[in-house]
Amino acid sequence: MRKGISRRELLAAGVALPFSGLAFAQLTCGERTAPQTEGPFFKPKSPERSSFFENDFQGEKLILTGRVFSSACKPVPKALLDFWQADDSGEYDNRGFRYRGHQFSDAEGRFRLETIMPAVYPGRTRHIHVKVQAPGRSILTTQIYFPGDPANRRDSLFREDLAMRRGAGEGRFDFVIDA
Ligand code: FE
Repeated sequence: MRKGISRRELLAAGVALPFSGLAFAQLTCGERTAPQTEGPFFKPKSPERSSFFENDFQGEKLILTGRVFSSACKPVPKALLDFWQADDSGEYDNRGFRYRGHQFSDAEGRFRLETIMPAVYPGRTRHIHVKVQAPGRSILTTQIYFPGDPANRRDSLFREDLAMRRGAGEGRFDFVIDA
């Protein structure tokens, strides 16, 4: 092993490569994922599901995958991930649960969400809202973003460290939470 590779780099490479077609290194642990405002459209009691595709869905498909880690770099199994987002017109479903759902990370801390690209809406760049919680621990509420979106520069909430890694039709984001 060459000198100078940090433990963090090794961990990042080790977890990023076997899991996805997106072969890039991402810092996967250490600093906790930054929290962000919940916004006005969260609804509790979303259905448990990992696909938001319904019979009549419209829009560009997006497969979002990633893992949940503790700040000690341990995968967090059974973490709750509750996602909600706008549809391809920039609307939230505030009556029902379209593009809303929760799931739990697997034994390796992995999750996979089948969804669509949310549209921008007035004042906001493209984003997906999420709450992530290890069993019995505090809830991280945040938003994840799309790198390179032109609207990012006009949205003061946008943060580079909350941007997913993009591949064709897919995105990847790892969370680091209180666990
Ligand atoms: Fe929003």
